[in-house]
This record gives sequence, structure tokens and C-alpha cells, in this order.
Amino acid sequence: MSADNAVNAGRPALDAGRTAADRKRGLRRLDLRLLGRAALLGGSGGRDGLPDAIEHLIKVHRGRHPAAGPEAIERLRRAYVLAESSHRGQTRKSGEPFITHPLAVTLILAELGAETTTLTASLLHDTVEDTEVTLDQVEQEFGKAVAYLVDGVTKLEKVDYGAAAEPETFRKMLVATGSDVRVMSIKLADRLHNMRTLGVMRPEKQARIAKVTRDVLIPLAERLGVQALKSELEDLVFAVLHPEEHARTRAMIEAHAAAPDPLAAVADSLRAVLREAGIGAEVAVRPRHAVSVHRLLLKRGGAQLGGCDFGRLLVRVGEDADCYAVLGELHTCFTPVIAEFKDFIAAPKFNLYQSLHTAVADEQGRIAEVLVRTHRMHRVAEAGVIALGDPHAGAEAAPPGDGDDSSAAGAEGGVRVDPTQPGWLARLLEWQRAAPDADTFWTALRDDLAQDREITVFTTQGGDASGTVRLPAGASCVDAAYAVHGGFGHACVGVRVNGRLAPLGTRLRDGDTLQLLMDESATSGPDRDWLEHAITPAARIAITRWLTQYPAATGQEQTGRSPAQRPVAAADSGPAPEPVAVTDVPDAAVRLARCCTPVPPDLVTGFVIRGGTVAVHRTECPTTARMTAAGREPVPVLWRDGSPAGGYRATVLAEALSRPRLLADLTEAIAAQDIGIVSAAVEPPQEHRVLHSYTVELPDPRALGALMRAMRSVPGVYDVYRARPAAAWADRDR
Ligand code: MN
Repeated sequence: MSADNAVNAGRPALDAGRTAADRKRGLRRLDLRLLGRAALLGGSGGRDGLPDAIEHLIKVHRGRHPAAGPEAIERLRRAYVLAESSHRGQTRKSGEPFITHPLAVTLILAELGAETTTLTASLLHDTVEDTEVTLDQVEQEFGKAVAYLVDGVTKLEKVDYGAAAEPETFRKMLVATGSDVRVMSIKLADRLHNMRTLGVMRPEKQARIAKVTRDVLIPLAERLGVQALKSELEDLVFAVLHPEEHARTRAMIEAHAAAPDPLAAVADSLRAVLREAGIGAEVAVRPRHAVSVHRLLLKRGGAQLGGCDFGRLLVRVGEDADCYAVLGELHTCFTPVIAEFKDFIAAPKFNLYQSLHTAVADEQGRIAEVLVRTHRMHRVAEAGVIALGDPHAGAEAAPPGDGDDSSAAGAEGGVRVDPTQPGWLARLLEWQRAAPDADTFWTALRDDLAQDREITVFTTQGGDASGTVRLPAGASCVDAAYAVHGGFGHACVGVRVNGRLAPLGTRLRDGDTLQLLMDESATSGPDRDWLEHAITPAARIAITRWLTQYPAATGQEQTGRSPAQRPVAAADSGPAPEPVAVTDVPDAAVRLARCCTPVPPDLVTGFVIRGGTVAVHRTECPTTARMTAAGREPVPVLWRDGSPAGGYRATVLAEALSRPRLLADLTEAIAAQDIGIVSAAVEPPQEHRVLHSYTVELPDPRALGALMRAMRSVPGVYDVYRARPAAAWADRDR
């Protein structure tokens, strides 16, 4: 028996915290877990001599593929009979019959809408490895395609839990196996069931398997767009690798579930609005999974989450056009948070994902995130490539092997020929066909997984969407300025990312909304440190040329352009009149970096820059990572005791719903903390939402936390945060 099969199928200990809260939370994603349980309960014996479990599987499959013919159904039955009889007598560590494993894996795939060939292969996926059944026999009875998939999974299993389970080894061994996305789908479902049943294994083995899952399987699920598998795998890995944080997060979710859900109230009023408008739509509260809640916590810097933060509203409609009709009602009857609006229908993600994203505030100021999509988009969002059926069928005259799978083109018809099919999947399928050997294919796939891909950024002007720009992953706002404006990129004086003022060095993420603030007089030019932020050749060449042409303009590190032209979020926190931090580099001047405005006790790292000055960045600042990666030697920096004359400067941003006296109340709250305001800026309200920026002088760096708490308690304020670099823990959620 392969080591894979030694994974225990016992009652998963990981499960313990979930049920009570999840039941209360109502709608779960696709409830794969319950289906898996149904399979286990129905393990043997039913009417007609056919076990209930296979009947349940067939019911689920027919639900997804109404066109699946009697012949296809008969094949599934035969595959089950062969798997059950050949695995008979084998048990998992838990004592359960082994057949419960392939059955659970196949149910996961059926629920995601996999076609019959994949399901047949999935039922048989452990037979060749662990029983008397041979590959030839599978081919004779079920055809070439099924045998090909079983062979691919068999090879993967040998690799996966072999002596060397390092991700790199795993990937290399993948190379030798199946070059078919369906093999990967089966592998993902197999891993999900094994992760669910990991509970009683030795802790070090749990950790090892969880790490490979984190490093290889989750990125793969993301790439293949299989959100339902990805979310559950993420939570299972989180529980194994970070048990304490997982328990804390679960406790928060439980506490939230015990109280009335404010999102349910918002959902009710949205239903009423849509009914009145005559739009047929299903509105549901979709809870965030634990990792998503945890990411949100990090994003908020540990600030408490509100009741509406534990989920999102999911609106499902029939037609593409209905999505925009729903959006219109949302933005008319509620107060939209315009920065949160993203149109992934017009510009689908690399992994096929399509939806409209927005956030709205109700009359009580509660902000709810809303996803709007059609039922078809929902299936693709949950099941990704699995919802596409046979990847060969759309592009080739005939499917490979016997190809008698009548269901493949069934319920999901139209998806495969979708002209918006994104580059990544098209490339993947192209490689599958064109690669001279499996090695070439997997090398390309591996590089693609590791390298990360192109991102799509939505550009806006004053809140109106105006276009999209594609950039390599890791690109910053500087890159975007040149990509959008060409040589006029020099005149970029500031940016808003997702509605918030942000440093020009901010790295952009897929789906970000970007507003470039341009100096229309075009009298400004790039700072030298723009080169640290630019990764695209177009930007780097333009900046270098400009700096060579106008060396005098950038002679001073601190004065790339006059302070007045600088947006407040990028405000200079230095140079302070005396050094506030010390370094052991002799005679070096120390200055605090503009991009991340460090304040004690931030962890900081120094780098020697032009003229021997030591620039001090927050350790979490992307510039630190980039300088280190570029081989620049970090210089140790220590904060000095005591405070410099004039104190520390920091820029704090407050987002609020516009109301009379807001400015007065905010400044009063700041003054009450005995903190001086150096400068303040108020963005003009957009859709009742305002952004206030305050650069303050802190008598003591410890005053910052109290200040932010005080600002947050001002009525109408829903977020307070420091001007900050793009964070490493970026929320990759949709
Ligand atoms: Mn297996």
C-alpha cells in the first residue's frame, strides 16, 4: 500500500471547532464536507445490490450534468464495483473500509462538476497502486482516457509521500507524470480528503504534509481557479501550522456566530430593493473562511473586526446584464464605497474568475462587501478548471482516448469557448498540446507557479473607471505611471490605490484600483529612488534618461521636488533636526525613509545610499525586501532613547462617511491627546465618503496607538491607519 494510503481516515480532529458555528452561519460554499460524510455513512449495501454511496454520487453527478447518458452512469457503477471489490479487506488507519477514500475524493469532484471520465478515474485512482488491478485492465474496461488519468495519479502518489517530499522534488516528479489538468484535479481532491483526515498522524508528519500542501497544492488550486478546494485546504493548513492563531480566529468566528448577524439584515434590505426593481436574484450571506478572517485582521493591524467583516453578500443572477442591473440598484439605494468597486466581468482574472465586487454602507453606516455574479460565473469561481470539463474537447476534433463522455459538453456549455478565456489557461492548454514532452510542460507550469504572473490594475480618474492596465506581478505605481502615460509618467506626483493615498513605491496587486495624480504643469520629475521601485524596462529606461538629463534636479536626496507637490501620504517624516536613530556606520547621516515613515518601536533596517547617508526603512517596507534581494547590505539601526526635539512625525489617515462637524471632531480628538497637527488634508467627498490625512508630531512614539484609537472612536469614522507601504500579508482574497 502506498504511503499515501497510510494517511488516516479517522474522525478529523481538525474538524472539532467547526460544526456548531458553521451550522448557524447557514450557507457554506459548496458543502463538500457534508457530502464526504454522506459517502462515508452510506458505505455499503443498498437496494438493487448497489450501495447507497454510488447512488448518491450518481445523483450529484446528474445534478451537475443532466446530459450524462445511461452509458456514462453505467461506467461509473462498474468503476465503483471494481474499486470496491479490489480494495475489499483493506482499511485505513481509522479502521474504515479503504473504499471510503476514493469515494470521498470522487464526491468532491462530482460536486465541483467534474465530467464522467474524471470521476471514473477518480474512483479507480488507488487501484493500480494498491490492488491486483492492472493498468491494462483499466484500459480494456474503461478506455484509454481513464487509464491515462489513473496512471498519472498513481505516479503522483508515489512521488508525493516518498522519501523526499520537498516541494521542489515534488514538482520535478510531477514533470514525469500527467500533463493533463484532470490529473491535477484528482490530485487536489485526493489531497483535500487526506488533509481532512490528517488529525491523528504524528505532528511532524502532519506539518510536513501541510507544508507541501501550502507550497504546491494551494498555489495549484489558485491557478486552476478551484476556490472551493483552495479555501478549505487553506484552513486545514492553517490549523496544522498555526494552531494557536487558528484557534483564536475560530473563537472569534464562533463569537460572531453567537450574535445576530448584521449582514443578514443588510441582505434582507437588498432583497427588498431587488424585488421592487423586478430583478430576479438570490442574495446570500457568504461567510469568510478562517484564513480570510485572519488576513483581514492582519490588514486592519489587529483592530477589532465589525459584525459585517465576517462575511460578504453573494448575489447570483441569471444573465450577465443582470449583474450590472444589481450593481445599479446597489449603488442607488445604498452608499457605495467607490474604491471597492471592481469589474472582473469586463476583465476576468487569470484563472477565469468573473464577478463584480463592490462595498456599500447602509443607513447605519455598516459597510458590507458584495459580490455579484451569474450562476455560471459562480460555478466557475468555485470549481475553476474542473467546471470546464475535458480540456481537450474544446480545441481538438476529438477527445483523447475513447472519448465517449457525453456529459463533458453538458451543463457548462459555452464556458470553454468563452472568448474571455484568460491567458494563463489558454497557455496551459496550449503547452499541453504543443509541449514535445511532459518535462517541458511541467517546467513551464512550475515556472509559472513560482514566478507569478501578470496582474490587471483598474485605472480610474476621480472615481470613474477609465481603463485597465496589465503589468508584471511585482510592479509598482511608478511602473503603472509610465505604462499609462509613457514619458509623461515623470509628472506623477501621487497615487491612490484602492481609494487610499499611497506611496509611489507601492507594489500593485491583481485587481487593485489605481488613480494616478498627475502634475498637469509637468514641472516635476522623477526622484532617484523611483529606480528602486521600477521593475519594468519602460519605466527604468525613462527614469534613467531623465536623471542623466537633469542631474541637478535630483542632487539632494531629500528634495526631489518641492514638498508642496508631494501628496500628504508620502509626506516626509524627516529629516529630523537631530538623528532619531543611530547606526554604527561612522559619520553617516541618518534619515527616515519617506516611503514608510518609520516610528519607534517599528522594526527598522538601514541601507547606505548615495552620499553615505543611511536610509532607515521599516523592516516590513517592500523597499527593504527589494534592497536585500538586490544584494544591498543591510546596516543595523537602533532607535535612540528619548524623543527628538519636535517629536516624531507620522501620517495618519482616517476614512469616514461624510457628515457635518467631522473635521472639527477629528481635530478635537487629536488635540485631546496633546498631539500637534503639522498638516492636514481633506479629500473632497466621493459618494459621502471622505479621506482625512493628518501629519502629526508625536511627543512620544507610544502616543500613536492611543491617537489612532481616539480617532477611530469618532462617529462616522470607519477606518484609521498609518500611511504605509504595501503590506507583505496582502489579502489575496477575491
Ligand atoms: Mn488517494
